[in-house]
Amino acid sequence: MQNILIIEDEKNLARFIELELNHEGYNTTVTADGRSGLESALSQNWDAILLDLMLPELNGMEVCRRIRQANKTIPIIMITARDSVLDRVSGLDSGADDYIVKPFAIEELLARLRSLFRRIDAINSNELTTLTFKDLEVELESCIVKKQGKIIGLTKREFDLLVIFMSNINIVLTREVLLNKVWGYSTGVETNVVDVYVRYLRNKIDDQVNESYIRTVRGTGYVMR
Ligand code: CA
Repeated sequence: MQNILIIEDEKNLARFIELELNHEGYNTTVTADGRSGLESALSQNWDAILLDLMLPELNGMEVCRRIRQANKTIPIIMITARDSVLDRVSGLDSGADDYIVKPFAIEELLARLRSLFRRIDAINSNELTTLTFKDLEVELESCIVKKQGKIIGLTKREFDLLVIFMSNINIVLTREVLLNKVWGYSTGVETNVVDVYVRYLRNKIDDQVNESYIRTVRGTGYVMR
């Protein structure tokens, strides 16, 4: 059974999410502020964390950042009341895997969770445990990325994106395909989020001297070659 940590200070919402998740067969624990949420996140093993953005003590963005700083790769879904592209992208940049905007239908949250767990299963069941391209190496089981043997730190989302590219060398991938494969659903996120993440990834994996490993295909998308 999967264990989910809910960090949410709105008691009624937290209770509602908890009841629905329990009904779906998930184990849940609720914490109501950022500081104790972070403590639970770091001290126990979770299959996923639902993290509210606006929290007392420590905000959700900061909680997320600190979880990632501690090298925890737990999937995190950010719950946000704000609805602008900038907030979404900076939420994802702090290391969240997905976000959901309040008010949301519980079915949507359940779908996001299922999609998250499906992606993890897909990565876990991949027979290939290491992908290589030029001087890049991706160890799928440990989620470690190396360039010339040195470890590169990627967020979960950047890692997923790199895995898709490295599993499709020389194949042009459209923004829609990348959105679907990496984010797991095709509505609610603008395709320019893909451009933002490709840029983050290039900054981390490219040499300054050579051409980018990920080429832009004008009007279409991207290809790794
Ligand atoms: Ca809140």
